[in-house]
Amino acid sequence: MKPIIYITQKLPDEAVAELQQSYEVRMWHDDQTSAPKEEIVKQVKEAHALWAMLSNQIDNEVFEAAPKLKIVANLAVGYNNIDLDAARKHGVMVTNTPEVLTEATADLTFALLLATARRIIEAEKSVRSGDWKSWSPMGMAGQQVGGATLGIIGMGRIGEAVARRGQGFGMNILYHNRTRRSLEDVKYAGLDELLQQSDFVVILTPLTEETRGMIGERELSLMKNTACLINVARGGIVDEQALYEALKSEKIWGAGLDVFEQEPVPLDHPLLSLPNVTVLPHIGSAAIQTRLSMMALNAEAIHSCLEGRSVKNRVC
Ligand code: NAP
Repeated sequence: MKPIIYITQKLPDEAVAELQQSYEVRMWHDDQTSAPKEEIVKQVKEAHALWAMLSNQIDNEVFEAAPKLKIVANLAVGYNNIDLDAARKHGVMVTNTPEVLTEATADLTFALLLATARRIIEAEKSVRSGDWKSWSPMGMAGQQVGGATLGIIGMGRIGEAVARRGQGFGMNILYHNRTRRSLEDVKYAGLDELLQQSDFVVILTPLTEETRGMIGERELSLMKNTACLINVARGGIVDEQALYEALKSEKIWGAGLDVFEQEPVPLDHPLLSLPNVTVLPHIGSAAIQTRLSMMALNAEAIHSCLEGRSVKNRVC
C-alpha cells in the first residue's frame, strides 16, 4: 500500500506528476474552490500527508481525525490558517513556501500601490464607459508616488523587496518591525511615527495574535489625509469597519486591498461601495512561475517527510 497524500484543491498535472510515482495522490476535484472542512476531515482519516491551501482552516478537529498524518504542507508563506499548537500536540510537522514568492508579491504590492495612488482602475473604467469627455486639468488626479514617503510595517523578506522597488521610485523609506534591522537607506520608525509621516503605508506582517487588529481607528487617525493604506498581508490585521469610516470621512485618501477578513469578500461589504478603494482577490503571489515554484516546494517537503529525510521550511 502506497502512503496517501490528500490535496485540498485541484492542481495542474505537472505539479503532482512526481508525487504520483511514489504515492497515492487524492485531490479535491475543482481548482476554483477548495475542499470543504467536512471533506478534509473525512479524507485525513487515511492520509499520511495533507497539502493545504491558505483558505483551509486546519484546526484541532482535523488533527484529531488524522491518526496517520505526518505533515501539513501549506501552499503559502503565511500559516495563520493552521493551529500549530494542535499540530505539535498530534506530532504533525507543518511547512510553508517562503522566498520563492517574495519578488512576485512585492511586484503586486507595488502594482496595487500605484493603482491606488493614480486611480488606475477608475480611470480605465472611465475610458470603457464613455465618461472620458476630454483632457481635464485635475481629471483623475491622484497622489504622486515618486519622491513620496513609503512606510513599511513588517520589514521582512517581502517588505525588503518592496523597499527596493520604492527606492527605484526615489521614495524615502521608513519601516517598523519588532526588531530593528541594519539595512541601507531605510530608516526605522515607531509605529505611530511611521503612520504620521508616510504617504503610503504598506502592511507586510504575518497575521498573529499580536498583529490582529493592529491597524484600527486610532492608527488610521494618525495617518495623513492624503495617505494610502496598502494591505497585502492578511485581512485580520486591519479593522475593516474602522478603515471604511476613515475612507468614507476622507480621514485618509485611499486604500489598496489584496486581502480581507472574509475571503471572498462579500459583495455587500461596505468597503466595496467606496470609490477610493482598489480591491484584488488575494493574488499577491499569483505569477505562473512563482506558483509552480511554491508547488514544487510543497511536493519536496511532503516527499522528504514521507521518506524520513530532513524537511525544509518547517514552521513546526
Ligand atoms: P517575513 O519575512 O517573516 O516578514 C514578516 C515581517 O513582519 C518580519 O520582518 C517581522 O519582523 C515583522 N513582524 C512580525 N510581527 C510583527 C509585529 N507584531 N509588529 C511589527 N512587525 C512584525 O514574511 P514575508 O515572507 O515577508 O511575508 C509576510 C506576510 O505577507 C506573510 O506572513 C503573509 O501573511 C503575507 N503574504 C501575502 C501574500 C498575498 O498573496 N497577498 C503573499 C505572500 C505573503 P519582527 O519579527 O522583527 O517583528
